[in-house]
Amino acid sequence: MSATQMPDEAVDVKRVITSLEYDFHKFELTNFVDHIARWVRKPIELVPFPFTAQIFGVWVPAPNQNYIFYNERVPYVHRVHIILHELAHILLNHPRHKLEDVLPPELLQALRIEETYGRTRTAPTEATRLDRAEQESEEFVLIVQRSVVKANLLSELTQESSSIAAFKPVTDSMGYNS
Ligand SMILES: [Zn+2]
Repeated sequence: MSATQMPDEAVDVKRVITSLEYDFHKFELTNFVDHIARWVRKPIELVPFPFTAQIFGVWVPAPNQNYIFYNERVPYVHRVHIILHELAHILLNHPRHKLEDVLPPELLQALRIEETYGRTRTAPTEATRLDRAEQESEEFVLIVQRSVVKANLLSELTQESSSIAAFKPVTDSMGYNS
């Protein structure tokens, strides 16, 4: 099976979100991340990284852990978007591709990631606009954003709280912080 092959059936993203039975009135980013982690039965670690402006985020599924690397140089509201987008890839089990030169080998080594298959989110191109998995992830983000706004918790998407700041360990100790 090629890495880019998609299942035949389009995913009903809205239905998947409903099936999560998540209470958006209690939305808080890390709480939502934990909910998804429990759902897929695999921990999710958020790792800030000073990517160049073209790279928004990367999802790397390791054997016992899902890693979401997000560009720490973009505004908070965008960081949340990136993390939600990558969460959708995890939840919807989207196809991964071999990642070349996106993350430094010593970082991958420190995280014990041996094979780097995953997904990279870059600034939108024609290719990403035509990629069904990318569209589904963006649809997921949109629905989550709407649900959070409806629950009167817009600030959870726009204002940095302590929750996401807690995820600093590996990159800080390795001097990747910008
Ligand atoms: Zn993506």
